[in-house]
Amino acid sequence: MNDQLALIFQRISDLLFLVAVEPGPRFRFLTVNPALLQITGFTAAQMIGHTLEEILPPEEAAEVRTHYHAALQGHEPLIYEEELCLPAGRFVFETTLTPIWNEAGQCTQLLGTSHDMTARKCAEEVWRASQQQYETLVNSIEGILWECDPRLFRFLFISQEAERLLGYPLEQWLSDPTFWPDHIHPDDREGVLTSCLQAVQEQRNHIIEYRMVAADGRVVWLRDIVTAIVEQEQTVRLRGVMIDITPEKQAQAELVQAKGAAEAASRAKSEFLATMSHELRTPLGIILGYTDMLLEETKEQLRPEHRRVLERIDHNAQELRELITAVLDLSRLEAGRLPLDVRTTQAAALFTTLRAELQELSGQSSLTFIWDIAENLPPLLTDAGKLTLVLKNLLRNAIKFTPAGSITVTAQEHAQGVEICVTDTGIGIPADALELIFEPFRQVEPAHGDHPGGTGLGLSIVRRLLSALGGGVTVESTVGQGSTFRVWIPTG
Ligand code: ADP
Repeated sequence: MNDQLALIFQRISDLLFLVAVEPGPRFRFLTVNPALLQITGFTAAQMIGHTLEEILPPEEAAEVRTHYHAALQGHEPLIYEEELCLPAGRFVFETTLTPIWNEAGQCTQLLGTSHDMTARKCAEEVWRASQQQYETLVNSIEGILWECDPRLFRFLFISQEAERLLGYPLEQWLSDPTFWPDHIHPDDREGVLTSCLQAVQEQRNHIIEYRMVAADGRVVWLRDIVTAIVEQEQTVRLRGVMIDITPEKQAQAELVQAKGAAEAASRAKSEFLATMSHELRTPLGIILGYTDMLLEETKEQLRPEHRRVLERIDHNAQELRELITAVLDLSRLEAGRLPLDVRTTQAAALFTTLRAELQELSGQSSLTFIWDIAENLPPLLTDAGKLTLVLKNLLRNAIKFTPAGSITVTAQEHAQGVEICVTDTGIGIPADALELIFEPFRQVEPAHGDHPGGTGLGLSIVRRLLSALGGGVTVESTVGQGSTFRVWIPTG
């Protein structure tokens, strides 16, 4: 038996010690096991036969002493936790002190066992720290993190942002089994629940936007990004984050309202312009009719100066009609009311018409015209009349702004369409005006001489017409060298 006890004493991994209680009381170590020496770093010589105060520094000794003292007072073993700084380092022990009594009823010895808790305490400390870090993180996110059961949508976890954002205490979110459905805005409730149940059934992640009613009655828009946790082909949990998108939704609503108002104003403006232009064209038609008649019928009788006056009236009235027609076209384009006759069109025929009308456009000009039209161009899907109008506009400008030199028209197939370029060797356009010239009534004052006139509406009509036809226009130019207008039109 003694051998067995000795074996236990030698091999046990916990610390064992026997302390004599001397008058005072003073505590003197009688015996310690090898595990104690190995763990604490003391030698047997440092401990055996020495008192607490001789072994430990004063502060530590005083603390251990209070425990030994307390053990003397009671009859039961005393269990406590202590943290000690010993030669081998800092330790946390769970110690049990058992008082041993003699026949006279005096406590003469204390039997101590200590279990080394240092590693466990350390792990607990690390766990607590990481738990705290995780909680701080979860609660500082500007979004409500949550977890719920997928059948009733009862919350199992909810982060503090929920209380901050909607005003209900977290306990209410967690304890009320129907909290979530009950606080969804009545208009959104059915749709949200149906789509959520379906997503749960299909075990898929989803994003929903809906309104919740806050404790103070506010309506809060949320974007809920939901992850389905699936185990053995069953959705066992839902986890997600709700983000407050109320400001985003408000801005969207304001934008839709502003867009509606702007569109209404633009429609009203276009309608006014269309009506006005129409009303102006009628009397102008009459003026032009009478001047033509006078010029024709009284050709012989008129004195040259009267004839010049009549010709000027005729010329100006024609310019005015051009302007009014352009304004009318532009306002119809803006209102989306210009009728288009889009059909398959042979490009070659279009260029033949254009070349035939060139004489009328170029008048007395001595410019050289070069036509470089690729053969076998694919058929275009466009309104031939409107495309001719576009190209005539570009040619008219090229002629108008080219005092001498040449004008080249090229056409070639180009990525699902045809590209037509009108290049002149004229006065060119400054880089900072290249975008402006497509705006209504914008003209560039030439560096030398007067502006040759015009309405300033041609290019804005060209751009809008082309965009209505599914194409586009760009311009490249160098002042003093010329310009190239590049038009793109889709093929059929
Ligand atoms: P308009 O020719 O009636 O003035 P546009 O809208 O057709 O109106 O053209 C706007 C302005 O762009 C012109 O006034 C002119 O300043 C400039 N522009 C257009 N085409 C050319 C060109 N080929 N060369 C130089 N400038 C041009």
